[in-house]
Amino acid sequence: MGKTMKALQFNRPTKALKLTEIPVPQIQHGDDVLVKVVYSGICGTDLHAIKGNYPTAEHDVTLGHEFCGLVVEIGADVKTLKVGNKVTVDPYRGCYKCRYCAGGNPQFCMHEGPRNALGFFLDGGWAEYCVAPAQQVHRISASLNLGLDLACLVETLSTIQHGIDRIGVVPHDANVLIIGAGIIGILYACIFHLHGHKSLVVSEPSAERRARIEVLELGYRALTPDQTREVMTEAARDLDHDGLDYVIDCSGYAPAVEEAFQWLRKGGHLCIFGVAPPTAKISISPNQMFHKELTVLGTLTNPFCYPKATALTAALGQRYLSYEKLAIETFELDQYETALSRLASGVISKAVFKFPE
Ligand SMILES: [Zn+2]
Ligand SMILES: [Zn+2]
Repeated sequence: MGKTMKALQFNRPTKALKLTEIPVPQIQHGDDVLVKVVYSGICGTDLHAIKGNYPTAEHDVTLGHEFCGLVVEIGADVKTLKVGNKVTVDPYRGCYKCRYCAGGNPQFCMHEGPRNALGFFLDGGWAEYCVAPAQQVHRISASLNLGLDLACLVETLSTIQHGIDRIGVVPHDANVLIIGAGIIGILYACIFHLHGHKSLVVSEPSAERRARIEVLELGYRALTPDQTREVMTEAARDLDHDGLDYVIDCSGYAPAVEEAFQWLRKGGHLCIFGVAPPTAKISISPNQMFHKELTVLGTLTNPFCYPKATALTAALGQRYLSYEKLAIETFELDQYETALSRLASGVISKAVFKFPE
């Protein structure tokens, strides 16, 4: 019998999450890479998945889609990586042949997509080892000086990187409203700050989450939704001067998105990052869209974003991403119950499993 490892596996039919001992996965294809996991994050999506509210395999599967580590073995055809490389692993892939992939949008792939995502349908990173195709494994260049603790945030930042690619260049005289100060809203605020933007407001009902914006000392106001309404109602008296250029929803809360739409000034953008329930609706005025030339855009996962997001993570560095500032807590794999309950209760913004190197 070969080597075994600890893995935290989910079984969707029974909704059971269990820590188990399974064989270390083996390289099966020429382009496979065996990664020794060092840091592996837990995010809100995982909490949904464990409740059975997010698609995952119908059999035992190791969850975990935000991880990084070290290459310990490579298949015969792997040219881009060497044993010992520090790497991040992109959980998603496209077929790179269908019309969407060919058009540069593997996030819409008709053949791969979520059904072949690591940590949802294929074994992911809540285990000591994971096998992934080389195409999904990205070497962290030594020149970036990026530690694996922060590299664990590359997956999250890769989805934000796609949002930034979709939004395009934001001029420095823009007024920005971010709805929601969960980890995504906080990271968007950090990136705007890194890029030198001064005029940004974060709207967030939870005092705990607002305090995380204060801790980062960005000089941005973190307001309750009532305070935001007050400030923006005042601004709406003279939208051309004080209106918003960008509303970035990181909450998925439709009423807040609908309300913010009226505060956009001419040329404004409404950017949907938050995942609203499928049945949620907002009502917006086509007349206003016409007169103000408004743009509404969505942003899904992270097509081709890993290299850029890795450099972005390094650029943000400890100044913005230290676990202490972001209220990220590390756990050992067998502390998973505590990790999940602390994340679900909101006392931390993210939980991360740390494995011995
Ligand atoms: Zn995630
Ligand atoms: Zn495709």
